[in-house]
Amino acid sequence: MKKHNFSAGPCILPQEVLQQASEAVLNFNNDDLSLIEISHRSKPFVAVMEKARNLVLELLNLENKGYQVLFLQGGASMQFLMTAYNLLDKKAAYLNTGTWASNAIKEAKMFGEVVEVASSKDQNFNYIPKNYSIPSDADYFHSTSNNTIFGTQLKEFPEFEGVNVCDMSSDIFSRMLDFSKFDLIYAGAQKNMGPAGATLVVIKEDILGKVEREIPSILNYQTHIGKESMFNTPPVFAVYVSMLTLEWLKNLGGIPFIEKVNEKKAALLYAEIDRNPLFKGIVAKEDRSTMNATFALVDENMTSVFDGLWKSAGINGLNGHRSVGGYRASMYNALPLYSVQVLVDVMQELERNV
Ligand SMILES: *Cc1c(COP(=O)(O)O)cnc(C)c1O
Repeated sequence: MKKHNFSAGPCILPQEVLQQASEAVLNFNNDDLSLIEISHRSKPFVAVMEKARNLVLELLNLENKGYQVLFLQGGASMQFLMTAYNLLDKKAAYLNTGTWASNAIKEAKMFGEVVEVASSKDQNFNYIPKNYSIPSDADYFHSTSNNTIFGTQLKEFPEFEGVNVCDMSSDIFSRMLDFSKFDLIYAGAQKNMGPAGATLVVIKEDILGKVEREIPSILNYQTHIGKESMFNTPPVFAVYVSMLTLEWLKNLGGIPFIEKVNEKKAALLYAEIDRNPLFKGIVAKEDRSTMNATFALVDENMTSVFDGLWKSAGINGLNGHRSVGGYRASMYNALPLYSVQVLVDVMQELERNV
């Protein structure tokens, strides 16, 4: 039987998507060829790319609003530098809410002045800073919607009149936002959309062309927009599986549907963390992520007993990131509510055993 997969990324994908993907690897489109051995410029694959791009706009409610959808390579980490390369003329503003945000800041500093508008580093990123101001002359404001490692999530985004850039790697397609408030959204596929290897970029074309520097072709968003994500060979398998996952989501009822399921899963687990005297949450309650819940044992001496219990219950990927410790339950879109119930049962079993 399939394990209850709480892995932070790469992570769980819908079982029916994995089934379809494995069939396509052997025989795609009934053409007696594999998906991964046909030309990316062949009709069947161009149709996959088009469908994937359209599904992104449809699910995010961004159709006919001037957005372009790109599937690039290099992961979200490549976007840390690509965003700055393409958009940072003089000064950019960044909100520092975790390891990934810090990495983005580090890259941006190579291209211009970076103003860190606020940081929660003083408390190992266990909360989201509020009430800061963003310099109005910043070329853009960069935030990270969900902090995968620490388990915090922005529930509200600051109003910034200029260009808004957001790393949504670990919560895109998980909750409804007014996505039209963002000018550039990026996300590594491997958290909530597909396998590693593709990075989604949703970008408003009119923010480009405002920096003086020359940009190498492959790092220039305009190149990829002009070639409809086919400047060079795209990661065909990752794009295909992402397309299948987006289709799965659409058939379920889209983001409004999955958001309700995600809220249920998170409420179930956080209620147990708060109720069970053996456990404690790690981050500020109001900033808790619905995707990645971080928690710890009150008494660390119980670690080996608890680890034995959840492993024998068929749970995978529950260990916290090394910079936080404790546990992290990642509850991405494809994780069933039932898996969270299994985890809660194990936490209650530990309580009965003491
Ligand atoms: C995982 C993650 C990244 C890094 O993604 P890669 O695709 O591995 O480069 C960046 N930002 C966030 C929020 C993440 O969760």
